[in-house]
Amino acid sequence: MADRLTSRHSGVTHAMGGCFDCNGTDALWHARNAVACAANHARATGHHTWAEQVISTVYNRKELRS
Ligand SMILES: [Zn+2]
Repeated sequence: MADRLTSRHSGVTHAMGGCFDCNGTDALWHARNAVACAANHARATGHHTWAEQVISTVYNRKELRS
């Protein structure tokens, strides 16, 4: 199904991740690559890692020009 709205902006606005084995539910990584950090840490250590990210989608955004 084609998206007929032409002015769509979408992206990760917030991301964080951590390791239950190292730091419990406190986040260790706050960058946008938190998911990759969690994946790499899990692969390297076998630890139980987690990651969350918020993906924002905006339609017909009016660009602000200064
Ligand atoms: Zn760990």
